[in-house]
Amino acid sequence: MNALHTSIHHSTVFDHPEMSRHEDVVFVHDRTTGLRAIIAVHDTTLGPALGGCRVWPYDHPGDALTDALRLSRGMTYKNALAGLDLGGGKAVIIADPRKDKTPALMEAFGRHVERLSGTYITAEDVGVTTGDMEAVARQTDHVRGTSATGLGDPSPYTALGVFEGIKASARHVFGSPDLDGRTVSVQGLGHVGHDVALRLHEAGARLIVSDIHVPAVLRAVDAFGAAAVDPAEAHMVEADIFAPCALGAGLNARTIPHIRARIVAGAANNQLQTPADGHALRKRGILYAPDYAINAGGVISIALATPGGDDTEVRQKTLSIGETLSAIFARSTREETTPERIADAMAEERLAGAARA
Ligand code: NAD
Repeated sequence: MNALHTSIHHSTVFDHPEMSRHEDVVFVHDRTTGLRAIIAVHDTTLGPALGGCRVWPYDHPGDALTDALRLSRGMTYKNALAGLDLGGGKAVIIADPRKDKTPALMEAFGRHVERLSGTYITAEDVGVTTGDMEAVARQTDHVRGTSATGLGDPSPYTALGVFEGIKASARHVFGSPDLDGRTVSVQGLGHVGHDVALRLHEAGARLIVSDIHVPAVLRAVDAFGAAAVDPAEAHMVEADIFAPCALGAGLNARTIPHIRARIVAGAANNQLQTPADGHALRKRGILYAPDYAINAGGVISIALATPGGDDTEVRQKTLSIGETLSAIFARSTREETTPERIADAMAEERLAGAARA
């Protein structure tokens, strides 16, 4: 009792370093199913907080809280910069998606989302399938990314936005968005990466591809006449553009000194390991397309899709990612700072404007 009291006294969840201006952080404990979850609503200035639900076997509840707080804040910025009338939120369920995830567990999560009365809208994230969201949708309407609510897999829209972002980056650095004859190193050939490679190939780019999953590499070599490299060398190759489309934190003190491309623009989330890495890229004269700006096509498709599947508005909004990036690059040149600082500033300005209105 004493030890518990002491630890709570010295450090509480309210002092968590990732706790910023969150509006609501809800800890869920469901008696019947054993569901343990955290729902973090960071900001609803622009609208209800939209952000996915992650199922992950966190070693410690503190790690789950860190993820929920950080990811929900990230969604506020991503949705604001993408021009969506949506705030930022995120949910994490502490469970092993392969062993613990049951329809009953997801339904219980749905009941707790319902209790928030639409302040938070959930969707798929790591460890969650469309089928899981169908279970959630049996308990609440505050769900996206089910067959009844949208366009299905968001990856093609993410890839479309990334392709537009690569063209905008090329225009800024080379004076032309034309990718014919440009060499692009695409790292990660999953749902998004393969589609990005396809679009680049159709635009006449030469491709260097890499993935830890060999069949994905062989498929791209075969389909696009691409050259293959070891994934650990994807950033080092002689190329105009490096497109990270695998996992995060690939831009760091170890990799940045070896990058030979003039542009880094790809789909992966959280590409910069630390803010210092963004400054290191700028110092080396490498243009970086901020990840949450260039990969917003997926959330745009989830947010704006209507049942029935007309995707005109989704495509238009996704194509505008190119203009957003051009504006970010121009301003970062003017203000002599990194593009990701400008992206943050533009998101914050939209939020401040909406708060004043
Ligand atoms: P995915 O799981 O379909 O593909 C990821 C690919 O990367 C896989 O083929 C995997 O084998 C490969 N990979 C993993 N580690 C690697 C490494 N070290 N080197 C090379 N390849 C490696 O995922 P996805 O949906 O294509 O997403 C790719 C990235 O884009 C992720 O960072 C994701 O968070 C981000 N993203 C995706 C979407 C979307 O709509 N799917 C939206 C926004 C951001």
